[in-house]
Amino acid sequence: MMNFQNTYFELPEQFHKNFTAPSFSPELIVYNYELAAFLKIDLEDKEELAKILSAQKILPTSKPIAMAYAGHQFGHFVPSLGDGRAVLLGELEATNKKLYDLHLKGAGQTLYSRGGDGLSPLGPAIREYLISEAMFHLNIKTTRSLAVVTTGKTVYREEAYPGAITARIASSHIRVGTFEYFAARQDTESLKILMEFTKKRLYPDCSTYQEIFATFIERQAELIASWLSIGFIHGVMNTDNTSIAGETIDYGPCAFMDDFQKDQCFSYIDRNKRYAYNNQMDIMMWNISRLATCLIPILDQDEKKSIAFLEQALDSMPGIFQKAYLNKMGKKFGLKKATSEHLQLIEQYLNHLEENKLDFTNSFRELSNALESEDLLPKEIYQNWKKVIDEQALPLEEVKNLMQKNNPFIIPRNHQVQKAIDLAYEGDFEYFFKLCDAFKNCYKESEEKQYLTAPPKISEIVKNTFCGT
Ligand code: AMP
Ligand code: MG
Repeated sequence: MMNFQNTYFELPEQFHKNFTAPSFSPELIVYNYELAAFLKIDLEDKEELAKILSAQKILPTSKPIAMAYAGHQFGHFVPSLGDGRAVLLGELEATNKKLYDLHLKGAGQTLYSRGGDGLSPLGPAIREYLISEAMFHLNIKTTRSLAVVTTGKTVYREEAYPGAITARIASSHIRVGTFEYFAARQDTESLKILMEFTKKRLYPDCSTYQEIFATFIERQAELIASWLSIGFIHGVMNTDNTSIAGETIDYGPCAFMDDFQKDQCFSYIDRNKRYAYNNQMDIMMWNISRLATCLIPILDQDEKKSIAFLEQALDSMPGIFQKAYLNKMGKKFGLKKATSEHLQLIEQYLNHLEENKLDFTNSFRELSNALESEDLLPKEIYQNWKKVIDEQALPLEEVKNLMQKNNPFIIPRNHQVQKAIDLAYEGDFEYFFKLCDAFKNCYKESEEKQYLTAPPKISEIVKNTFCGT
C-alpha cells in the first residue's frame, strides 16, 4: 500500500490548488525497488504502480495538489510561479520515520501552468532519474527518483517526443520561492504558518527561527561545496529551484564537467553564464539573501532586531561557504582539515587542470598515485602538496583512503546520459538500466566499469543541455 499523510494539503488554501490529471496510457519504465522499500511501499503490480504514479489511480489517502510559489528567475522576480508541471500526491513516512513528499513531474496541467502543457518529454525524465540517483550514491543531498512512467501522450517541443512522468521524493518541496510568494503579498500570517511547517518538518532540532536560518545557510554551504567537489553544475539555480531542506532539486539542464573549466556552463538558456560552475557559491548566497528579506517580518516582533540578526548572519555567510568548500576540496587532496592556507594549493591544481584541459574526475581519482611519484605533477604543485601532507602527519594509507572516498571513480558524464536518452527514444532502455546500476557505486573501482571513466570523444561532446520544459 501507500499510506499517504497530507500535512501540506492541510495548510490553508492559499498554499496550493487541487489537481486533476488528464487521461494517460501509463507504462512503468523503471522502478526503484530499494527506494520503494525505504518508503514502505509494498505494491508489486506494475500496471497498478504505473496508474498510481501517473495520477490515473488516486489512492484513498492521496490528495493531489500543486504547490504555490514565486521565484527569482535569472535574477528577475516572478511573483506567481507554482507547480506548473508537477503535483504532490501526498507524504509517505519512510523507515527512518521521516516524511517524504511524493511528487509527479510531467503529469499534466495544473492551475499554475500559465499556458504550459504541464508535460515532460521522456528525455528529461530519464535524465532526472539517472542523475538524481547518482547524486544520492555520490553522498550528495538530493531529491530521489522512484520511477519513470511513460504516458502514451506525445509532447511537442522543437520536435514531437513521447511523454513521461518522473516520480520523485523530497524531504519537502518548500523552496526559497515559497517564502517569496507570501512575502510578495505581504501575507505575514502565511509566512508564519510556512515557517512553523518548515520548523516541524525540516528543522525539528532548531528552537528558534534564527537558528533555522543559520542552519539553512550551513546546509546550503555544504550542498554547494559538495557540488563543486564533484564538478556538478546545477544549471538553473533560480530561487524557485532552491530547496529549504538544502537538497539538490529540479534536475533540468544540470551536468557534470569533463575537462575542468572554471566558468563551465552547459544550460542552453543560460546565455550570460549566470549559473556557471564557479558562480554557484555566490549565487546560492544571493538566493539566501532573497530568503532573508522575506523573513524580516517574522523573525522578531521588532523588525530592527530581525534586520540586525539577518545582517550579521549574511555577513558570516562567505566564511561559512569557504569553510565548507575547504572541507570538501581538502579531502580530495587527502587533507583531513583544510584551512584557508590550503586554498592556494587547491587553486593552483585547478588552474593546472584548466590550462592543460585535463579531466576533472579522472585527474582527482589518479592524484593519489602522485603521492609517491613526484613527476606526475608540476614541480611547484607537488612540492606545495607534499609539504602540507607531511605537516598533517597521517599514515599514507589513511591519506589515500580519504582521497579514494572523496574522488569518485565514475560520474554520469553528459555523453553517457545523452546516449541513454537517445536510445530510450528508440525504445531501448538497456543502456539506461546499465548506467542506473553502475552509478549505485561511484567510488569503487572496477574493471567492468572502466569504460565509464572515458571522457567523450570529440564527436560525443555535449555542449548544451536543455530543461525540456
Ligand atoms: P523550472 O525551470 O523547471 O524550474 O520551471 C519554472 C516554472 O515554470 C515552474 O513554475 C514550472 O512549474 C513552470 N513550467 C516549466 N515547464 C512547464 C510546462 N511544460 N508546463 C507548465 N509549466 C511549466
Ligand atoms: Mg523548478
